[in-house]
Amino acid sequence: MIAFGPVPSRRLGQSLGINNIPPKNCSYACVYCQVGKTSELKHRRNEYYKPEDIFGDVQELVVRLKKNREKIDYFTFMPDGEPTLDINLGNEIDLLKLLDYKVAVITNGSLITHRDIQNDLMKADYVSLKIDTTDKEIWKKINRPHKSLNLEAILESMVHFSAVYNGRLTTVTMLVDGINTTPFHIQSVAEFVSELHPYRAYVAIPTRPTAEKGVRIPDESTINRAFQIFKEKMDQVEYLIDYEGNDFGYSGEIEKDLLGIAAVHPLKLESVEKLLEKANANWRVIEDLLSQEKLREVEYAGSKFYMRSLANNNNNKL
Ligand code: SF4
Repeated sequence: MIAFGPVPSRRLGQSLGINNIPPKNCSYACVYCQVGKTSELKHRRNEYYKPEDIFGDVQELVVRLKKNREKIDYFTFMPDGEPTLDINLGNEIDLLKLLDYKVAVITNGSLITHRDIQNDLMKADYVSLKIDTTDKEIWKKINRPHKSLNLEAILESMVHFSAVYNGRLTTVTMLVDGINTTPFHIQSVAEFVSELHPYRAYVAIPTRPTAEKGVRIPDESTINRAFQIFKEKMDQVEYLIDYEGNDFGYSGEIEKDLLGIAAVHPLKLESVEKLLEKANANWRVIEDLLSQEKLREVEYAGSKFYMRSLANNNNNKL
């Protein structure tokens, strides 16, 4: 199950997700990761799926969604890992563009030092870069990068990329209480982000269950202070601090939809109920998936979420 959704996104409208990386291959192991702990901390690219398989899966989902009159605004690479680890990313974007939809890539940006990765990202209509910090010690605490990575080189490459990229470049800064929220630190991050002249700079907080316990959401005054510091440096700043809604797309196959979405996007109880309603199905579907350990239920910030169990989340790898 490579293609899933669409999932509602404030940034991208209705976003058909593409999970082009097996769980959970990433160059970071962020403490706040919403798709679980990084089991494969990697920095080298690999071939995970054949580009034509990704294309076929997306094409098939588009057909099913059209039948159900579901809207699609973007095809979005947002896997349960880092999408640029996929050596075929550029080819996949080329192929997907044949279907006449815009393509977005949500990346942590840590591999952007590689020219081939910059070239792949250049093909996307929308790129989102993660910039939680400009400080090496904080970086190690919050993003817990692969040991071969170098923050200074990454930031330099982001500046280079932003100067040549013609699509919509956005940034996301995730605030974690007690790690990256001091005014002095936010000042430095905002200063750096403003150098990239992004279309939008998002100030975010963890809104779904996090990989590590004890990751705290900053209080409102801290979030607001960070926002104001960003705002002093640039106009185009927005919050990304709410759950993004319950309007997930139904493609005609409820189990596939639930598992595909929940692999990268933990679903709130209300979203699950809405999706079941669209499919004219009942809670028995969820009970079955829970008993087969394909889904798990977690509590976070006072809400119930449904996530894919990593142990049972193997897509059809090459
Ligand atoms: S939040 Fe993104 S970059 Fe960080 S560990 Fe999770 S998948 Fe990787």
